[in-house]
Amino acid sequence: MAFKIIASQCTQCSACEFECPTGAIKFKGETYVIDPNKCTECEGYFETQQCAAICPVPKTCVPA
Ligand code: SF4
Ligand code: SF4
Repeated sequence: MAFKIIASQCTQCSACEFECPTGAIKFKGETYVIDPNKCTECEGYFETQQCAAICPVPKTCVPA
């Protein structure tokens, strides 16, 4: 399981990139993307998904 970023809503603030414990979030092309092979939904690190918690835009980091 992994989270994804809704590119059309992302303001490219970069906040999520530094919160991700697995380094799954990278700027790629014109937006931030979550590598589904690296995203663990924060399992083993945090009880809540850090990207969704820090993102200032509601419903932008969501379950894929
Ligand atoms: S859910 Fe957690 S592991 Fe997955 S991209 Fe967001 S911060 Fe990273
Ligand atoms: S925190 Fe939200 S708005 Fe900021 S770069 Fe990440 S997905 Fe985009």
